[in-house]
Amino acid sequence: MKDLLFKNARIIDPVRNVDAKGDLGVSNGLIVEASEVKDATVIDLSGKVLTPGFIDIHVHLRQPGNSDAETVATGGAAAAAGGFTSIVAMPNTKPPADTVGAIELLRNMAKKSPVKVLPCGNMSVGGQGEAMAGIGSLKEAGIVALSDDGRCVQNHGLMRHIVEYAKAFGVPILDHCEDSSLAAGGVMHEGKWSVLLGFNGIPAAAEELIITRNVLLAQEINWRIHMQHVSTRESVNILRYARSRGIPVTGEATPHHLTLTDECIKKFDTNYKMNPPLRSEEDRQALIAGVADGTITVIATDHAPHTATAKEVEFDHAPFGIIGLETAFALCHTELVTKGVIDLPHLIRMMTAGPAEVLGLEDYSLRPGRPADLTIFDPAEEYVIDSSKFFSKSRNTPFNGRSVIGRIIMTVVDGKVVYQK
Ligand SMILES: [Zn+2]
Repeated sequence: MKDLLFKNARIIDPVRNVDAKGDLGVSNGLIVEASEVKDATVIDLSGKVLTPGFIDIHVHLRQPGNSDAETVATGGAAAAAGGFTSIVAMPNTKPPADTVGAIELLRNMAKKSPVKVLPCGNMSVGGQGEAMAGIGSLKEAGIVALSDDGRCVQNHGLMRHIVEYAKAFGVPILDHCEDSSLAAGGVMHEGKWSVLLGFNGIPAAAEELIITRNVLLAQEINWRIHMQHVSTRESVNILRYARSRGIPVTGEATPHHLTLTDECIKKFDTNYKMNPPLRSEEDRQALIAGVADGTITVIATDHAPHTATAKEVEFDHAPFGIIGLETAFALCHTELVTKGVIDLPHLIRMMTAGPAEVLGLEDYSLRPGRPADLTIFDPAEEYVIDSSKFFSKSRNTPFNGRSVIGRIIMTVVDGKVVYQK
């Protein structure tokens, strides 16, 4: 593998508080000082931005079980095109990733992905919320986190024991926060629009109750719990209060909850159906405020591929979820950075150091000697999202045709260029 020399880039490295023009070298898969490369391919990055590789801690790859919608290879290619160099694979596959064998299978399939695929194991057997999974052996098999995403452990006693075991084995918990008795039967946010459209609603309290439960358990046990896809105003307020008290909780926001509301559902397009559902404008504004003040520290996509056949049914019957890997950066850059909600280093932190911190990865930076996982983008390029060009096997996105600013132009994993526009 030839050395690389990136010249004249705007280098943003949140962990080291760097935002400056400079050069960066890559040799033998590692970051080196620009002066240390030999016989390198020189890439001029004038006007472009170079950052640590993006991490998405919330991705559904659908393999094994639903390879019509996505595979580890196609999801990995979509991630590379989106600027992600590491993705955490959710365990709700068929069979679920709740055994050592399932984790080994994923690690094997991950060799076909151009980006790093980090396994997440179920916290309960089969994600059914009835008995604890074998957390110790899953950790030995290489999981980076525990989650029952798509479902949520309802029994608080069981959840308490899971958090205690997670702490004993040093594994972070990523929780899909949803009280299933309150959410039962709902297909969209419960509010004005669910009444007008005549759909069953999922109340905000379904999420807020479990976030509150998790805050109390994190405090009691003193172990990290990360709240997946935070979507409501009171969720943000509870998280803000908990963090101000030093309780070890974090939260993520998805690009779709930051950019869309439940009003979109009047189009009856199933690409607006996800769980948690798109919420009210008031919730969306609260989520944006939580991003701006550091309550929410992570952007995650909840990339959830579904085939066209699965999604092309009545709204009530369609599966929840949309894809997100190939649109996340551009949407967040357009809506948060160019509109002045946060600055560019803040967004980069939420896509690099923020998720790394949730996973307990130390020093996720551009320090020489670290693996050369890099993301390069043009912050000025305007383009229209065209889902027909996606690397993902699925097309279930509500963002096709949307104009955005900021385009990924190169993704590098362990010194190898895995995507180039
Ligand atoms: Zn979820």
